[in-house]
Amino acid sequence: MTIKLHNTLTKTKEVFTPLDPKNVRMYVCGPTVYDFAHIGNARPVVVFDVLANFLRHAYGKNNVTYVRNITDVDDKIINRAIETGEDISTITSKTEKAFHDDMAALGASQPDMEPRATEHIPEMISIINKLIEKGHAYEADGHVLFSVSSFSEYGALSGRNRDEMIAGARVEVAPYKKDPADFVLWKPSTDDQPGWESPWGPNNGRGRPGWHLECSAMSEKHLGETFDIHGGGQDLIFPHHENEIAQSCCAFDNKIMAQVWMHNGYLMSEGEKMSKSLGNFYTVHDLLDEFPGEAIRLALLKTHYRQPLDFRKDGLREAKKELDEFYLALRNLSDDGSNLETIPDDVLNALGDDLNTPKALSILFDLKTKLNTADSDTKPAIRNQLLASGKMLGLLSANPEEWLRGASSDGLSDDTIEEKINARIEARANKDFATSDAIRDELLESGIIIEDGADGTSWRRS
Ligand SMILES: [Zn+2]
Repeated sequence: MTIKLHNTLTKTKEVFTPLDPKNVRMYVCGPTVYDFAHIGNARPVVVFDVLANFLRHAYGKNNVTYVRNITDVDDKIINRAIETGEDISTITSKTEKAFHDDMAALGASQPDMEPRATEHIPEMISIINKLIEKGHAYEADGHVLFSVSSFSEYGALSGRNRDEMIAGARVEVAPYKKDPADFVLWKPSTDDQPGWESPWGPNNGRGRPGWHLECSAMSEKHLGETFDIHGGGQDLIFPHHENEIAQSCCAFDNKIMAQVWMHNGYLMSEGEKMSKSLGNFYTVHDLLDEFPGEAIRLALLKTHYRQPLDFRKDGLREAKKELDEFYLALRNLSDDGSNLETIPDDVLNALGDDLNTPKALSILFDLKTKLNTADSDTKPAIRNQLLASGKMLGLLSANPEEWLRGASSDGLSDDTIEEKINARIEARANKDFATSDAIRDELLESGIIIEDGADGTSWRRS
């Protein structure tokens, strides 16, 4: 199978050839842990989770290494600690836990490694030393800065010219900078800020890294100086990824940091830029109170990852209904123990074509339609194809009966519903259709849909 991926660096869709097919390596920039993840943060997590599943299928389960970092030292975290009076370590550990819980609810597996920035300070200091030695960085006023003019390839990823880069980076034109485009590798910390000893500045060089440096250090440590895929949101192309490339290529004397740079598109919410004042700022945590995680995941995957995505609650309601239909089709089909790795070629081809999840999903919808009309001999094979394809996308792994009965938040317990259904069966047996219809209507009013079939009566929450 040929895999093609769109590379931001070359702006083309290229055939993907891993540096080492026995160890396909992917690094994705992870969360800065100071607050609940919003739905825009969840998009890259879900997208690259599907890519990791797909790569594991293509190259072998044990031949893929997926690393996603945790940024646990950042000015946003320091500011949150000042605002709330909480310890930095309390904020980062509770936010990290919430992130893990929320992403698990979206069906995203843990990456193979999840390194934390604060556990890689010596590696970062070592990179800075290399950069200073090679003339790519300089110390000024307790800071260490990367000298952008020392790297001729700077700007190749984002395609920005110099002025656009200075404006886009929104960096202050600090007096200690030789060039306004230079960016911080290390900065001094006051005694009440997180800090580590370093060779630069007063107070034993007590300071902390600039944000970009951590990803150069952690990717090199866990994946090597060059690796296959580097991913993240489109907003990271500049300055974050541009700066990562500059640091890594200059420190390690390599032409490339990663072969392929993949970026997911922007996320809008209810047709506008997400903002707390517009009431369209959705945290995953809050959305999970209203919707199943799987519906959120499906809604995210219905748009191709490179396209902008307009996230809407209506879209979640629609995704929930579509999942209901999938689980209705899968209901009462028992596991026959047959091979669940039978993913149809057209699903694999869709995913191999720059991770075309909307196309893959359309094939799943077709399989569902086929399943509904198939005879009992062909049903098991179609069921397996549907479940295997769903598994790769991180969908359809719930127990259909449990999904359809849903959580009891409508006041009627499962037992009460069963009692009413039994009363209706009795009424029908006595030809008391008035009572039987009344019970059906009463259940419907409580959001319970009942269906009479050859195997008896089944029910689900709508
Ligand atoms: Zn990064």
